[in-house]
Amino acid sequence: MSGLQRITVLGATGSIGLSTLDVIARHPDRYEVFALTGFSRLAELQALSRVHRPRFVVVPDEVSAQALQAALRSDGLSCEVLVGEQGLCAVAEHADVDAVMAAIVGAAGLKPTLAAVRAGKKVLLANKEALVMSGALFMQAVRDSGATLLPIDSEHNAIFQCLPQDYARGLAQVGVRRVLLTASGGPFRETPLADLELVTPEQACAHPNWSMGRKISVDSASMMNKGLELIEACWLFDAAPAQIEVVIHRQSVIHSLVDYIDGSVLAQMGNPDMRTPIAHALAWPQRIDSGVAPLDLFAVGRLDFQRPDEQRFPCLRLAREAAQVGGTAPAVLNAANEVAVEAFLQRRIRFTDIARMIESVLNRQASQTVQALDVVLAADIQARELARQWLASH
Ligand code: NAD
Ligand code: MG
Repeated sequence: MSGLQRITVLGATGSIGLSTLDVIARHPDRYEVFALTGFSRLAELQALSRVHRPRFVVVPDEVSAQALQAALRSDGLSCEVLVGEQGLCAVAEHADVDAVMAAIVGAAGLKPTLAAVRAGKKVLLANKEALVMSGALFMQAVRDSGATLLPIDSEHNAIFQCLPQDYARGLAQVGVRRVLLTASGGPFRETPLADLELVTPEQACAHPNWSMGRKISVDSASMMNKGLELIEACWLFDAAPAQIEVVIHRQSVIHSLVDYIDGSVLAQMGNPDMRTPIAHALAWPQRIDSGVAPLDLFAVGRLDFQRPDEQRFPCLRLAREAAQVGGTAPAVLNAANEVAVEAFLQRRIRFTDIARMIESVLNRQASQTVQALDVVLAADIQARELARQWLASH
């Protein structure tokens, strides 16, 4: 047996997936790619397979599987192509896998990420929607299986780095007063409120500091991303929503902070490049080179902080309310948001309709207690249906 850690990268063709493969490729002495998965960019998936030579590749349907299998054979590769959600779960829970990067976007990542958790893997969590949807069940599965859950979201990775190792005893027990979750404020931080009605998907996706997939870019522009991250932080660190304060910090150099009762405030800083949290989580508790340039404080010059304006960013309020309500409310929020963002990207609704649509769905769908995953999945389906009804009537 080699001493290499075998890694499955769910969502390998995306922004986080590619950054993960970049870090992995820098450390052939430590890591080996076990499986890659993709959804639409299958030519890219083939190219990645040539470079990383995984044992398995997963695609969404049989037709793509046959085409890719033939193409990989003619490249002289022996990897096996699996299909659909079953294939995703198989490569997430496979006995030979050491770590799983969960980097599928949205609810589509829930089952494979949970499969990795239930199999007790080291799970590198980028797919925040999975945890937002299934919160208590997800964390219970982590405890039951003994999985190691490491946050990839830069803010949560920062918080993790600023907390003591025994933070699971409880934030109050380890002397934490509150967690400060930083946000860049996105591209519309200073856009006149009246102009928000007219912003385009291109403007929403042009994030000032980070280069990311389209869905999370729109979420950053609406600050729903910070709302989802607030819920994510509550679950990861067993915090109440009131213990988490969102701070707009436009330089995206401080990735989040932890405020302790003795007045100490610990921050994690670095250039805005996801390879830092990815390398941190891959090697934890060790440190490895990520390829990220050292932070040049003289070039940064200054750090600004501002309170978020909930009139400008109603999604942040909606997420905080959903976190407080609990039960299926966060899953409903997430599902309505996914439909709204997709509709905005297709130019079917305005940017400002995103929050209107989510609020309408949340008002129409009562939160239920979550005893099992089926309840979450049913709430997700119902919320998408209500969101589509809203679309049809506007
Ligand atoms: P992306 O759109 O660039 O990539 C998404 C990946 O998911 C792709 O590989 C795609 O093929 C796959 N995918 C999409 N729909 C799928 C489906 N139905 N079934 C299976 N696979 C599917 O997104 P991203 O920016 O890499 O974000 C991925 C996740 O990481 C998201 O949950 C996002 O919130 C989170 N995240 C991203 C960043 C970032 O900087 N990009 C930072 C923090 C957290
Ligand atoms: Mg983030």
